[in-house]
Order: sequence, then structure tokens, then C-alpha cells
Amino acid sequence: MKVAMYYSNHDVRLEEMPKPGIGKGEILLKVISSGICGSDIMEWYRIKKAPLVLGHEVAGEVAEIGDGVSGFKKGDRVVVTHHVPCGECHYCRDGNETMCETLRTTKFYPGGFAEYIRVPAVNVQKGTLHLPDNVSYDEGTFVEPLGCVVRSHRKADIRKNHTVLVLGSGLSGLLHIKLAKAAGCARVIATDVSESRRQAAEKAGADLVLDAADDVPAKVKEFNSGRLADRVIVCAGVMPAFRQALDSVDRGGRLLFFAPLRPGEELPVPVEHIWKNGISIVTSYAAAKDDLEEALMLLSSGSVTVSDMITHRLPLKKAGEGFRLFADGKSLKVIIKPHQ
Ligand SMILES: [Zn+2]
Ligand SMILES: [Zn+2]
Repeated sequence: MKVAMYYSNHDVRLEEMPKPGIGKGEILLKVISSGICGSDIMEWYRIKKAPLVLGHEVAGEVAEIGDGVSGFKKGDRVVVTHHVPCGECHYCRDGNETMCETLRTTKFYPGGFAEYIRVPAVNVQKGTLHLPDNVSYDEGTFVEPLGCVVRSHRKADIRKNHTVLVLGSGLSGLLHIKLAKAAGCARVIATDVSESRRQAAEKAGADLVLDAADDVPAKVKEFNSGRLADRVIVCAGVMPAFRQALDSVDRGGRLLFFAPLRPGEELPVPVEHIWKNGISIVTSYAAAKDDLEEALMLLSSGSVTVSDMITHRLPLKKAGEGFRLFADGKSLKVIIKPHQ
């Protein structure tokens, strides 16, 4: 079978690999749609493991069933998640499923940018969801990214009366905007340095869109009856966004670090200021099954629409072009279609 092998953001090659065999409890999935994720193009994060087949936002059709699989049959339309928690360890029982050791070591093989993948038994049991008829395969690839956003909103305790500021309007920023609007948040403000992403933020439903280079805290106050934002979500992994977040959060508010900085990059935190003003910092990493189920429900009910965010659908042989488009900021969502 064919796979797109990742060497770097600007070097992705179409290569040949044996079609994976499956064992007891496993599924062979025919990959129909596979999304390129912002984390796929975080080169510092990916390149140390290269060459490898990336792709963890996968929807497809069950092609083969291993002995003992229940709940799925050949031909079923499903989404599968790459990393699944064990459900039994200290972290899982404490609600920190995405900190589970199993979650960090489970994965399907070889990766979503391939014609077929083997879904291990634990992923079949704890990370495979049936796609409702009204959710397309392309939309299904959003279950994982939207699931991550769902989890982070719960962790940051984002509520209806909040003014939410989203720093960075790439794909994850747009999903944050859409989810905050679907949740009925009072005001949603978004920023970006790029004109096209600012337009996308407006289309996604932001009530106010600002140039990230502007005096964001001042403009937030002006728009928000003199108050800063109750929740500030950082979706851009660059230092100025983190600094702006600290300057834009109201007292009693929360900062949600959805994107990281690079390893070793340190953010000076004005401890006295955040202590005195009751500001807390929360982070969120990945998603667990409940988050994915909620994401799928949001898609299926139409509360969050995603098809308007897909800018490119490309065959596997053009995966390299997809990575370049995404890394260079020339696309929103790129979906790879291995069987086209
Ligand atoms: Zn992702
Ligand atoms: Zn666990």
C-alpha cells in the first residue's frame, strides 16, 4: 500500500509499505479522510522521530475485523483515535485521562496518511466511534481536534456569562470561537496577525476581530464595557501571544494555554499580579473518549459546523503539497484522501 512518509514539513514522500496484518481484537481500517493537524507541522516536535507516517485525525471504513471484535463489522463508517487512555490508572481515575501512560504509548499503525491502518485492540475498545449518517468522513476528521477543544473548555470552566478572548485564529482558534459561540458565551473576541485568518475568525462567528499587533487589552476593554476578558485562550505558540494573554485577562479570570511554547522557552509570570487578581493558568492536552463523543454530538447536531473550514482535499501523492500549504499558512483545513 501507499503511505506519505514525513521527513520534514517540506519533505513528505509517497512511499510503499506492506499493508498491515491484523490480530485478535484488531481492525483494519480503510482510510477515507485524514486531516493535517497543527501539531503535525510543529517541526521541532515531529522531526526527532522522522521518517514516520503522521496523521491522527482519521475517518474511514472498517475493511477487516479480527477475532473477538464486538460492536463493529466490515463496512462500518467510523472515526478512530490515535491515543487512548487505560481508564484504570491513577491519572485516569483522577480525570486526567490524557496524562495516562497508555495514552502516550498507544497508537494505530502506521499513521493516518496511509491507505490502510491497523487499529490495535485497546483503540478499538476505547477510541473508535461510529460515524452517524449525517456526518461525512471529512467532517469526521474534526472529531479529534474538536474533542481537544471540548476538553480544554471544560478544564477552563468556560461559561455563558464569559467574555472569551481567543489569541490566534488558525484552525484550533476557529474551533474555540465556534465552540464558545455554540455554548452561548456573552462575547467572543479573536485575534490574528494574518488578514485571511482574521476574516475566517469573523466567519466563524467572533463578535470582534482584532489585529494581534494592535493594543489588544485596550481594545478588549473598549468593547467589553471597560473590563478585560474572563477567559483568554492562547492558540498561537509564540511568546507575544502568551504575554498578551497575561495583559488581557480580567481579575478572577483564567488563561488557557492550548498551544505550547517550544521546549526551553520560558514565560516570565508576574506572580504578585496574578495572585492579587485571582488569575489562574490552565493547560489542556489531547482528548479522551468523553470529549470525542461530545465533539461528535456537536458535529452531528449541527451545533458546530466544520465543512466551511476545509480549504483543500488532496490525494495521498499530494500530501507533501498539503503540508507545505498548511505550514506556510496558505490553507485552513487540509484533508488527505488516500483512496482518491
Ligand atoms: Zn490533532
Ligand atoms: Zn490510565
